[in-house]
Amino acid sequence: MTVTAQQRGIARCLECGKLSRLAASGNGHAQHCPRCSAPLSFRRIHSLQRSWAYTLAATFLMIPANILPILTVISFGKGDPDTIMSGVVKLWQADLQAIAAIVFIASIAVPVIKLLIIVILILVVQLRLPLSKQQCTVLYRFIHFIGRWSMLDLFMISILVTLVHLGNIATVESGPAATAFAAVVVLTLFAANSFDPRLLWDLDND
Ligand SMILES: [Zn+2]
Repeated sequence: MTVTAQQRGIARCLECGKLSRLAASGNGHAQHCPRCSAPLSFRRIHSLQRSWAYTLAATFLMIPANILPILTVISFGKGDPDTIMSGVVKLWQADLQAIAAIVFIASIAVPVIKLLIIVILILVVQLRLPLSKQQCTVLYRFIHFIGRWSMLDLFMISILVTLVHLGNIATVESGPAATAFAAVVVLTLFAANSFDPRLLWDLDND
């Protein structure tokens, strides 16, 4: 059995990484890092509660993000608003299968998988699901690796809206789902960052 820093009374500053001794009593809420003055604690305070809150908020916002129109392409004065999924279908039918696949993966598959993984990690800690620490680490790394790609869609919409201004011939307008989708992306990032992976290792030492 390994001894954790927490058991030795040592806490790591989340801002600058400095290790400091913390009094075990009161979980050190009032103590501050001697180097950068950030509040010190053995684990992220209310890590699971915050992660749950952000995850649930992101999950609810997935509904407007997928039901409402995300953008409207108006060409020659005509155009129907598109949701993410109808956009994917249209791209597919227009023989742009590769782009349809990218949009589907970036806008539908990845956000859903990411939220699912965060829920799994939280449940591993809370309910002690029988996942090995190695599996959990792979999942944790995955959500952090994939996080940087989840802005791809918003990036694409913002570029389209800015660039495609061809007067009466074609314009692109973003829809209300874009705001909801942006909120989903940001809240998922917060949910992933609120989760303290060290809680997984603590399961071995309880
Ligand atoms: Zn510090």
